[in-house]
Amino acid sequence: MERSVAELVGETDVEALTAEQVLEVVLETLHPNVALACSFQKEESVLLDMLLEREPEARVFALDTHVLFPETYAVWRAVEQRYGIRIAVYEGPSLGRQAAVHGDALWERNPDLCCSIRKIGPLGAALSSLDGWITGVRRDQAPSRASTPKLGWDERHELWKASPLADWTDDDVLAYVRERELPVNDLHARGYASIGCTHCTAPGTGRDGRWIGSGKTECGLHA
Ligand code: SF4
Repeated sequence: MERSVAELVGETDVEALTAEQVLEVVLETLHPNVALACSFQKEESVLLDMLLEREPEARVFALDTHVLFPETYAVWRAVEQRYGIRIAVYEGPSLGRQAAVHGDALWERNPDLCCSIRKIGPLGAALSSLDGWITGVRRDQAPSRASTPKLGWDERHELWKASPLADWTDDDVLAYVRERELPVNDLHARGYASIGCTHCTAPGTGRDGRWIGSGKTECGLHA
């Protein structure tokens, strides 16, 4: 059932708030039952910094598909060290177990099923104990994300969803990362605007480098 943001925040105009203010509203209304979904891209570098500065006990989780880039695992370790946190992990099946059930290289033969078992299933487990989640989704990343609200009811997962950087640009994100000298995924400097699994990610602007040539544009986490 669709729910109005006013139920959560009253008359506050969330769209007029800065990213930091959105996080403050989310923490005031939902902590400790809200968590940041961290994919270790530059947007999460920003959100981790803003969030943990305001609430050191804020919850953070990651989905480990077991086919992430070494650079992604490196920035994962770097942010845990910088902030003194352990990020909760929700995992897809190991490569061996997936191959035994579905055959090799499922991402080539059936990427939707691969995303379902490696991402969607683990996300459902992560969200099951929460009243809200925070994401790094930005409107200018793809047409499918153009109408992303800064805070809204996530009908599919039945909890609140905040995207505090919804109206930020690539340049806004990179400027914040530089100013705060944040750990950031090295792949961004090598032309990867969006970073997912090794088999399905190439350099490109926006989300152009994801699932090239397959017609697939989203893994199903956000759209
Ligand atoms: S992005 Fe590719 S490898 Fe990762 S879960 Fe989806 S299809 Fe599988």
